[in-house]
Amino acid sequence: DPRGRLAPPAGPLVTPEKQQQYRRAVVQEALHHEISKINVEKCSEGEEDPFYVADLGVVYRQFLRWRDQLPMVKPYYAVKCNPDIGVLSTLAKLGCNFDCASVKEIRSVLELGVSPDRVIYANPCKTSSYLRFAQQSDVGLTTVDNAAELYKIQKYHPGCGILIRIVTDDSAAVCRLSTKFGCTVDTATNELLPLAAKLGLNVRGVAFHIGSGAEDFSSIHRAIGDARKVFDVGISKHGFRGAMNILDIGGGFQSDSFDEAAAIVRESLATYFPQEYAAEHGVQFIAEPGRFMVSGAFTLVTHVIARRDAPHGSPDDTPKAMIYINDGVYGNLNCILFDHQSPQPSVLSHKGKLLPYSPEGSDPQSSPHTYSIWGPTCDGLDCVSPRSSLTHDVDVGDWLYFPNLGAYTLAAATSFNGFKCAARIVYVASEDLSQYNI
Ligand code: PLP
Repeated sequence: DPRGRLAPPAGPLVTPEKQQQYRRAVVQEALHHEISKINVEKCSEGEEDPFYVADLGVVYRQFLRWRDQLPMVKPYYAVKCNPDIGVLSTLAKLGCNFDCASVKEIRSVLELGVSPDRVIYANPCKTSSYLRFAQQSDVGLTTVDNAAELYKIQKYHPGCGILIRIVTDDSAAVCRLSTKFGCTVDTATNELLPLAAKLGLNVRGVAFHIGSGAEDFSSIHRAIGDARKVFDVGISKHGFRGAMNILDIGGGFQSDSFDEAAAIVRESLATYFPQEYAAEHGVQFIAEPGRFMVSGAFTLVTHVIARRDAPHGSPDDTPKAMIYINDGVYGNLNCILFDHQSPQPSVLSHKGKLLPYSPEGSDPQSSPHTYSIWGPTCDGLDCVSPRSSLTHDVDVGDWLYFPNLGAYTLAAATSFNGFKCAARIVYVASEDLSQYNI
């Protein structure tokens, strides 16, 4: 563990630039240290497998950013986004709560000593045995968007707190969720609330999700307005006064656009859930951020295992070679298919020479070194990039890195074709987290 070898910048003259340099240096040192240990000429099989460097300092800074910008909204980290135990235990120690979608996710959080009242089972369509598990484990808050689910809850977990999940306009999001989940305000108010009241269930509020990687923040505003309509009907018509007091604004936040999104959340809450209303009904606000917390924390490192040059006489715009690396769309780069990401490769070592780490990518302007990049499996779908410009004339034995690969990557990696799906993770911390026992 290379943590602690570099001294953080100290004293009154610490500038943001110095801080940034230090944070990079921490990650770079770990990257260089790890690949220096591997002798690719002699190593045993798999020693040069892909691995991650995870900077828990990034998770910490994102958590603080959330708290600064949305202090009134309690985050429940969406475990599905990256269930790595280092991430979960860091967030648990920082006091974050958790959004789980399955028994395995609930278990991994409870096993860290997180109390069940810090967990929401945020899956509107639950397996019955999972719901019984939630009941036995005292996980007492879930989301629902259909009548059958209300009957299921009555049968297996009748005391469970229920958030009615409403649909949003997520047409501009990178990954749409409202195609699968969420009922209309009309269904919520005319069907689900009366049925829940008739079944004697415990409706606690409303949830929504504006789509993962959302771009259109006016949809947050509309969704919060819609949620208020459901609150009004539930409280005034169906006897949920005193019970309905949770608004869950879901996930979808991205680091780059977070300031803008957070401003809209604050404004929308002030419009539809003003202080007097929130105080009268004791309304608490919660959210389920995933990608926002972890995307920037993980850098994937891959080894160049093969290279095939373009045939002589290929058209001028043909990449000069096909580069084959030991991770691809069936592994940690599945985010290309499932999450519409375009991971940006950079060269980490060329002919044994270590190169600087730059999370923005090295972006060569007019590099002659253009490649198509492919994963290790025997499937033609396994293309990591149809065209990438790199700083060096990459060859077999070199290493590439892909920054910002913390979200929806290792969570869905497979072992197709016999390639290992669980990449090794090397943890570093570009912040002093000792006060949290991290
Ligand atoms: N909550 C629910 C119910 C989800 O389905 C998802 C993602 O699919 C999330 C939260 C996390 O979304 P994001 O990672 O975009 O914040």
